Order: sequence, then C-alpha cells, then structure tokens
Amino acid sequence: MHPDTPQPPPSLRLTVDTDALAANWRALDALSGAASAGAAVKADAYGLGVDTCVPVLRDAGCETFFVAHWSEVAGVAAHVPADRIAVLHGVLSEADCAYARSIGAVPVINSLDQARLWQASGGGRCHLMVDTGINRLGISLGESGDPVIGGLAIDILMSHLASADETTAMNRMQAELLREAADSIAHQRLSLANSAGIALGEAFAFDVTRPGLALYGGVPRAELEGHIRQVARVEAQIIQCRQLAPGDAVGYNGTFIANTPMRVGTVSIGYADGFLRSRGPGNALLHQGRPLPILGKVSMDMVVTDLAAAPDLGPGDWIEVPWNIADAAQQNTLSPYEMLTVLGRRLRGA
Ligand SMILES: *Cc1c(COP(=O)(O)O)cnc(C)c1O
Repeated sequence: MHPDTPQPPPSLRLTVDTDALAANWRALDALSGAASAGAAVKADAYGLGVDTCVPVLRDAGCETFFVAHWSEVAGVAAHVPADRIAVLHGVLSEADCAYARSIGAVPVINSLDQARLWQASGGGRCHLMVDTGINRLGISLGESGDPVIGGLAIDILMSHLASADETTAMNRMQAELLREAADSIAHQRLSLANSAGIALGEAFAFDVTRPGLALYGGVPRAELEGHIRQVARVEAQIIQCRQLAPGDAVGYNGTFIANTPMRVGTVSIGYADGFLRSRGPGNALLHQGRPLPILGKVSMDMVVTDLAAAPDLGPGDWIEVPWNIADAAQQNTLSPYEMLTVLGRRLRGA
C-alpha cells in the first residue's frame, strides 16, 4: 500500500464552461426585463455540479436559488446565504420545519396542510406556490381565502407553467390566474417563468424568474436561440483498440457483426455515466469533427466505436462524447433535461 500515491486522473471527464454558464444567466436576467432572474439548481445543478455552478451564478449576480429537497440545501448553502435558497417541495414534517429554521432556508408552501405545519412550527418568511393548471404542487385558487394562508409571511407568490415550451392559450391563462391570486394573497414578489417562460416575454416575468435548463445550455424555445451557449462538454479516453475480422460480433448479444476487416476502439463511457443505451447504434462519438459510429450495445462502463475515420487514434486518446443538449438530433428519446440529469457520478467527480 502506498497511501500517499495520488489517485490517477479519470478516463472520462465533464467540463463545465463556467463563462458560458455566467453568460447564460446574464442573458436570461436581461430577457427577464425588470424582473431579476434566480436559478434552479436542483438535482445537483441539473447534473453539472452545485459546487461548480452555484459560485458562478452567485458571482454573476443571481440572488435566489431553487432546489427541490431539503437534502440539497446544505450543498448550496456552502456558497450562498441560506435565506436565498427556496425549497420547492415545501415542508412535509416537523423535522423539515425544524431543519428549515436551523439552516435558514425558505420553504415553498404547497398546500393548506403545509401552511398549518409551518405556522405550528413558528411560521416566518416563506414562499407560496399556487396551482394554475399543472396540477402538481400548490394550493388551488379556491383555497386562497383560507385564514391559514392569510397568516403566512409570504415573500414570493409563485406558480409554474405547464406548457411554456409550446405556444398555447394556456400560458396566458396561467399568468392571468397568478394575477388573480396576487389580488387576494398578501405577498412581496411574484414569480411564474421558468426558462421557456422567460422566452414568452416580459408579461410572464413578474418580479423573479426561475430559469434552470437554459442556464445549462438548453434551448426550450426558438426565441432563446442565439442567447444561450453550450455549457457541458463530455470526453472519454480510448481504453483499447482491436482489429475485427468479418463475422466478429461486438458487445452484449453480438448485435453488431463486422462484414469487412475493421479497426475499433473501446471507449471509457457507458450507461452508468449517463450515456444511455438509447444513444447507441445510429449515433457516433467524435474526434475533431470526425464521426466514430457506435457499434453494438452500450455497456455499463464502455462503448465500442468504429475507428475507420480516425486510424491515427489509439489507447489514451480523448474522444468527444456529443452532449450538446440544444441539438435535438442527439437526444433520441431523451429530453434535454434528461440528458443533463442522467450524468453519472463518475463524470461529476472528475
Ligand atoms: C425545475 C423548475 C424550474 C426550472 O425550470 P426549467 O424549465 O428548467 O427552466 C422553475 N420552477 C419550478 C417550480 C421548477 O420545479
């Protein structure tokens, strides 16, 4: 054992373009007009890493950070004051309320029960979600007159758009219903728009916007094209190269069979890293723009590629794994949200 021998560098890496991330936040903040943009940093900043992304967003000027779970608060609070963190799932138990108080993060209250629980624990500053049609979380408009709601100290009164990535009358209707709720519920600030909602225009921005996907390079509506830069880059090394003879089969179940002699490379990324089987045959990895078609099933830790277009490559060479989430052609059955959030731990630690 040589415990002081450093761990060798990993054979796959995720690079987050922090300049692009900051530029995306600034673009979305500008597109939010008079409103200020917050940032959805749930799910480890959509797979790109809270420790990488939150300081960049904070330094760009972001003041409000949204997570889903209480388990996500401490990681974000290492970089920003906890009272700037909103927890979207709200409080489900006394333990949630006690934790909220001790760490100082702010629950988004989603129901009359949550409101009662929060008040019983001592109340204090909170946010409130009203449902305007997505039927997921939030009090209904009919509940807005309930005395327990009247007793809350609400900072951000918010709702969430169901189909902001589509052009539908539903968007305007939801904005109208939030305005109605705002007439009867005391609050400091209003919030409705996610990334796609920002693209709908200033009538949807209110006081605070909540972009997530577009910060990280997603383009959910055409209006955002030209404003959003790619943030995530994934690369992996060739582990081994081999020569196939006609008739040789590649990978589990031999779903690819060579019909000519060919040189192939086994690359260090697999479905455990988020390179799912749906991104297998029919797709390619890249080396300096040269496509390296994927052969056979994607394995847990590796994938085999055809090196015909890059005969100069060998073990140790780095291969580009396409991860441009704005490019629909790469997404197959995955949404851009899923392409980010499936990024595996071995990539994030890199
Ligand atoms: C995740 C989330 C967002 C961010 O949505 P994007 O489409 O990623 O911009 C905003 N608001 C709420 C309530 C969310 O859950």
